[in-house]
Order: sequence, then structure tokens, then C-alpha cells
Amino acid sequence: MKKLALLGSTGSIGTQTLEIVREQKDLQVTALAAGNNSVLLEKQIREFRPRLAVLWDEKAAQDLRTRVKDVNVTVLSGMEGLLEIAVMPESEILVTAIVGMLGIRPTIAAIEAGKNIALANKETLVTAGHIIMPLARKKNISILPVDSEHSAIFQSLNGERKNAIHKILLTASGGPFRGKKRADLQEIQVEQALQHPNWSMGKKITIDSATMVNKGLEVMEAKWLFNVDLLQIQVVVHPQSVIHSMVEYDDGAIMAQLGTPDMRLPIQYALYYPERRSLSGKRLNFYELASLTFEEPDLDTFQGLKLAFTAMERGGNIPTAYNAANEKAVALFLEKKIAFLQIPELIEACMDHCTFAENPDVEKILETEAEVYAYIESRW
Ligand code: NDP
Repeated sequence: MKKLALLGSTGSIGTQTLEIVREQKDLQVTALAAGNNSVLLEKQIREFRPRLAVLWDEKAAQDLRTRVKDVNVTVLSGMEGLLEIAVMPESEILVTAIVGMLGIRPTIAAIEAGKNIALANKETLVTAGHIIMPLARKKNISILPVDSEHSAIFQSLNGERKNAIHKILLTASGGPFRGKKRADLQEIQVEQALQHPNWSMGKKITIDSATMVNKGLEVMEAKWLFNVDLLQIQVVVHPQSVIHSMVEYDDGAIMAQLGTPDMRLPIQYALYYPERRSLSGKRLNFYELASLTFEEPDLDTFQGLKLAFTAMERGGNIPTAYNAANEKAVALFLEKKIAFLQIPELIEACMDHCTFAENPDVEKILETEAEVYAYIESRW
């Protein structure tokens, strides 16, 4: 039995992780955590019988405690609860599938406690990659990517010497607004931005795909995960989302991973690495693939992607400002308080406004997040 703890169990990645647990019979869930979805968490507790469960919200946790009195589970709340899950002795692997910078501290605690990490929460590496990656190397911990593009790169690196990477080709579907110009995006409504052509995901990441900020975050994530220079990462728009990403080696050979758009594959690969398990679901049929096409990203229209490169070049806490500003901007857009094109505008303003810190520790990262939030609240 492989024992895993899961942060973000009620979300898109979390529920798909539990589908894998349901399908494979040798995974045991030691802990589950969510924000405030007590109804689904209760169902999951009853089905998967974890020893620990956490809801961020203490009131919701109190309510859940009463409802699961008949089950042998301890219900905790807040960051304390997440940290308790991160270090629980019985789990071998921590799946981090919560959204936002909340993931940083539990990830660090789990690495310190010797747990491998199946990492979906990209914000952790975007903002604290300079802390997480050296710590993981020091503790001999594997950070196993769950993001499909990073999993594809990881799979394309199998059996190769990492220092022979010439270039990472990070593919992007281009989102629902591929081919449009800035002028076409003036009047975009929330409902339109939530229509992703290929992948079914949580709301926040779906908007991030529409702005291509998601690709920007992935560029930063790739830089840390694979220890490459920014110049070695090239974004390639590939609307069919069949090639999930590629690695070009020094001799010009390119390795790619292909498949249907199904997040369960990278999740399962991370859980069982280096083993491959059988997985139900649709398979690629090459007779039906009419064509695979590729384009250069339009950085004038999708300024969010361009800004990600700038944020990474400036370094320090600027990627944190980028990420925090985007989180707030997306929330405001979803509440219909700002327009679609204002998302990158807010990000740029916050990157320029925030107090620069060259080598931020976790406290400074969280301080930057707070500074950015306060700035946005004061202006928008
Ligand atoms: P969702 O919004 O679907 O789910 C987020 C999860 O985090 C939910 O379980 C939510 O609980 C939980 N959560 C939110 N706030 C807290 C909190 N304060 N404390 C504890 N748990 C909390 O997100 P996704 O599954 O889409 O994404 C998760 C992460 O994975 C993100 O970082 C995303 O970028 C990344 N990712 C997602 C992909 C996808 O296909 N969805 C692909 C690659 C990466 P509740 O339901 O109670 O709010």
C-alpha cells in the first residue's frame, strides 16, 4: 500500500486523484484537506477513511466534526491543520492540489519531514522555487510534477542526462481566444473566458488559460523544476493539446509526450513514478488525428505571458507580485468588477509597485502577497 495525503481533495485535481485511488487498489489515503466544502469532504471521509481531515475554515471544521462523529477521523482547521497533514509519519507522498500560495508552507514542512511531493500547486514553485528546489535536493526528495506540461517534460527526460537539455518546448493550447487581437478582447465576458477548448479545470486556472497567465506561471515552474535558464524555455502554441510538451537535446533530437487531455495520467504517473500503471479512458487514435499545428504565441495580445518572462528576469519577489496580482485580478474579473484586459494591467501595475526583495524568505513572500492585495484593494 502506498500512503498519500491530499491537500485540495475537493477540487479538480483532488477529485481526479481520488478517482485514481478508487481505480487502483493499492493506494491508501492518510489525510484530506479542503477550504470549506464540508459536504464533499464528509463524503470523501466516509469513502476513503483518512486519519486526518482539514477544513481551512474553523466553523466549517466544527460542523464537520459533529457530522463525522461516528468515523475514526480527527478534523482540524487552518494552516495548523495543513502543516499537521504535511508531516504525518504514516504518509509517503503529499499531493499538493490547493490553489494559491497557501501551498508553500505545507510543501516545505513535508520536504523537511522526508515526504515526496506530487506537485500540482504551481504557485508554490513560482513564488518559492528558490527555497523549495534546493531544500528538496538537500533532503533527497522528489518533486513529481502533476501539471500535464511538466509531467510531459519529466517523462521526456526519462533515461536522459538532464544537463544535455538544449531547450524545453512548453506547449500551450492558446485558450479560447487564440487568434484574437486585443481589440477583440475588450468586451469578453466571464462566461466566454470559462470555455476552455480542450481541458476541464477549476475556474481560476481556466481564466488563467484564457489570459495565458497560466502559461506564464508554467514557464516559471519549469525553470525551477528542470533547473534551466529562462532562455531555454520556448512556448509553442499547439491548439490540439495532443503533444503535452517536449525536450530538445543538444544533438537536436526532440522527445515529446503525447496523449489525450486527461489529467489523471500525469497525476497517476506522479503517484507511481517510475512505474506506469494501466489507466482507463480514451486513447489517442492517430488515424483520427487530422493534423497537429503549431504557432508562435501572440505576446502583444496575451500580455500576461510576456509579463511572466519579465517577472522571472527581474527575479526576487517579482514573480510573487505577478502571481498575487493575478489571483486578485482573476477574482475581481470573476466577480465582474474588472474587464478581461485589465487582468494583465493590474499585474503589471503591481509588479512595478511592489517593494523589491532580492532573495525573499517565506515571510517576505507572504508580505509581498499582502502588499499586492492591499494595493489592489486601494485602487480597484
Ligand atoms: P480547484 O479550485 O478546483 O480546487 C482547489 C482545492 O483547494 C479545493 O479542494 C479547495 O477546497 C482547496 N482549497 C482552497 N482554499 C483552501 C484553503 N484555504 N485551505 C485548504 N484547501 C483549500 O483547483 P484545481 O484543482 O484546478 O487546481 C489546484 C492547483 O493545481 C492549482 O495550483 C492549479 O494551478 C494546479 N493545476 C490544476 C490543473 C487542473 O487541471 N485543474 C492542472 C495543473 C495544475 P474547497 O473546494 O473547499 O474550496
